[in-house]
Amino acid sequence: KEMSARENNVAKIKVVVRKRPLNKKEISRKEDDIVTVSENALTVHEPKLKVDLTAYVEKHEFCFDAVLDEHVTNDEVYRETVEPIIPIIFQRTKATCFAYGQTGSGKTFTMQPLPLRAAKDLVRYLHQPVYRNQRFKLWLSYFEIYGGKLFDLLSDRKSTGSTGANEESSRSHAILQLVIKKHPEIKESKRRNDGDESKPGKVVGKISFIDLAGSERGADTTDNDRQTRIEGAEINKSLLALKECIRALDNDQIHIPFRGSKLTEVLRDSFVGNSRTVMISCISPNAGSCEHTLNTLRYADRVK
Ligand code: ADP
Ligand code: MG
Repeated sequence: KEMSARENNVAKIKVVVRKRPLNKKEISRKEDDIVTVSENALTVHEPKLKVDLTAYVEKHEFCFDAVLDEHVTNDEVYRETVEPIIPIIFQRTKATCFAYGQTGSGKTFTMQPLPLRAAKDLVRYLHQPVYRNQRFKLWLSYFEIYGGKLFDLLSDRKSTGSTGANEESSRSHAILQLVIKKHPEIKESKRRNDGDESKPGKVVGKISFIDLAGSERGADTTDNDRQTRIEGAEINKSLLALKECIRALDNDQIHIPFRGSKLTEVLRDSFVGNSRTVMISCISPNAGSCEHTLNTLRYADRVK
């Protein structure tokens, strides 16, 4: 009883926006910071010109579950996004935490510390008296999706094809998963080859961290370079499919459109049953990024 109450306290879908500070380059170019944050709302002050070239500002206001400004630390991001989910991972919950936004907006900066903090907290839970005597184990997988294909980042690096994706991380989705499995009793002699996540053991809970491809890349569908166009179309497809899946999830739809892309197909089991989704939309504050920032916020607004 107590557990299910706690479980219900964590929203099924949470949309958080994180604004990064202006960087040195933007400051040296004297770019304006056009994003103001006030509690869980933010305003984008879009610089515009009238036909007669008089300058004016158009304001766009948005509200989210939380808005984190440029002073917020990665620790606070963790506390706001992932920490509340940790206790319910042991109650058959599949959680997914995405970072969405244009290249340079802070996705990797935001996502990189989260899995290690989560793993530490999960291990702390595993050592609690209630769980300690159960045969729980923590598994890790790390892979990326590039051009609609999956590349395991923990296996041999020399594996064919995985190089292209790593050179340009903004064109691939990086996925790190922590999986809690309950292992059946096995004799010591049989346990020797027990080295990967696909081996028996019942999945108790899972948390996936996803550093998505740069959202602006999905617009590269008219680029002169054929490869860039193909990749852009693939990214566009996956980001659209992701949005559709999260919305379907939010509306408790029976049919979730996983098939729309490799990304959503891979996340299929995270979208069924007891699931939690956290979307961290990263935005750049500089005037030059205004259009991308508005696109990111509109995407987040749709998911909300
Ligand atoms: P993305 O992964 O979205 O392309 P990055 O995470 O690589 O963007 O961030 C771009 C740059 O901005 C990096 O140098 C990063 O260290 C810096 N940065 C991003 N977010 C912040 C932040 N909140 N505070 C300070 N620096 C940041
Ligand atoms: Mg990145």
